[in-house]
Amino acid sequence: MTSNILGKCKYCSTIFRLRFQVGYFNIPVYFRCPNCYVDIEGIINIDQESPNIIPDIRNFEMNNSKMGEEEYIIEQSVEFPQRKLYKVNQSNSNDMITPFIRTCSNIGFTEMQREYLKINLFLEFKDNLFKNINDLNRLFNNNKLDIVKTKLKEIYSDKKIISKLDVIIAIRHMHIKGIKYLLKEETLNSYIKLKEEIFNLFYKNNNGMIEFIKHLDEVNVFDKATNKLMTLISDFYNIYEKLLPIIIAVNTNTFENINKSEYGISTIGYSELEKFYTQSYETILDYVDILIGLNNISVRNSYSLIPDSVTIFNDFYSMENTDKKIKKLDALLENEPFSYGIILNNRIRNSIAHYNVKIDYNNQLITFIDKYNGIEKKENIYYIEFAKMCLDNLYSCQYLYEVIYQLSQLKYISEGEKPNFLYDKNNNE
Ligand SMILES: [Zn+2]
Repeated sequence: MTSNILGKCKYCSTIFRLRFQVGYFNIPVYFRCPNCYVDIEGIINIDQESPNIIPDIRNFEMNNSKMGEEEYIIEQSVEFPQRKLYKVNQSNSNDMITPFIRTCSNIGFTEMQREYLKINLFLEFKDNLFKNINDLNRLFNNNKLDIVKTKLKEIYSDKKIISKLDVIIAIRHMHIKGIKYLLKEETLNSYIKLKEEIFNLFYKNNNGMIEFIKHLDEVNVFDKATNKLMTLISDFYNIYEKLLPIIIAVNTNTFENINKSEYGISTIGYSELEKFYTQSYETILDYVDILIGLNNISVRNSYSLIPDSVTIFNDFYSMENTDKKIKKLDALLENEPFSYGIILNNRIRNSIAHYNVKIDYNNQLITFIDKYNGIEKKENIYYIEFAKMCLDNLYSCQYLYEVIYQLSQLKYISEGEKPNFLYDKNNNE
């Protein structure tokens, strides 16, 4: 069902019609008045019981305008790509197709229902169990082992939680229970393959791996990276609802079919996307050495031997301590075994923070301008594509987290710990 709200810009009185899909979620509103350039933002609260619609939108005044008097129309929807703000003229005021119908014809109704179910299960996870995971990780990294064990025993009363190894397995188990509703099945399956690859390397080149794990432990990577990646994952979960159109499109392999010049997202602004993108990109660069180290062991037999093609660094340590973090990516060769989990947009390889940015708010178009040696390069990206890049960064962070988890297991195993946390075969351990 779609509904409409008519109102005017508080400053210049331009009349807008907000046309929105009434669904399960409250609808964030975000656009810029095309006449006076103030931001119009807020939320349309949907009271599911009545059902009542309660808008709370800054710089927007509801008035007595009638349908047909609007100068601009903007579609709002939480779950689906929406038609971007457009000026009304006779030829384009066709209201027949709703964002829901448009998306269903693209995805299929059954698939859509499946996605709804997954979204609801994930929301329940992120608002409940995930909060525990965050606390437990922090307690564990601050050596409050007894408190963590007591709490875990409440959750897993039928399992043995004795060693530190048991604790990290249990915490990871809790997380997988939720992210299986967020990630694609093939991504989850790739984690099983990843474990095999890391453990195989451990048996094949035991000295090399033990040396590497020792080094990572000495530079405190396990605690620091886990905390940082968990914080980012949690930041992403905070904007999860706003990215639903992209998550649904990616999970149903329909992202490429969206006409991005006409359809976009109205739930999130550039600054919020930029914040997550920049922070996650920097963190990926901080910890990408771990993958390079694994590639080094796998291909060159020692974590300290970087690929010959990399001339800017002498060895692993000079790369690890560089202030030119972006250059590390040159050492992450695409065809080496542990590179596959990092998805980087080749068009925007530099961190966004280093670009000049121009934004066309209503076309939702971002222009990145990079000046290097007097040569200016421009790259245009739609919000919806930028949001997809944020999702790709989340996947990369999740992959790094998984790699660190597997290495942490090996750290405790090589210290002589035994796993007592018994799990059944379906838990993807
Ligand atoms: Zn205005």
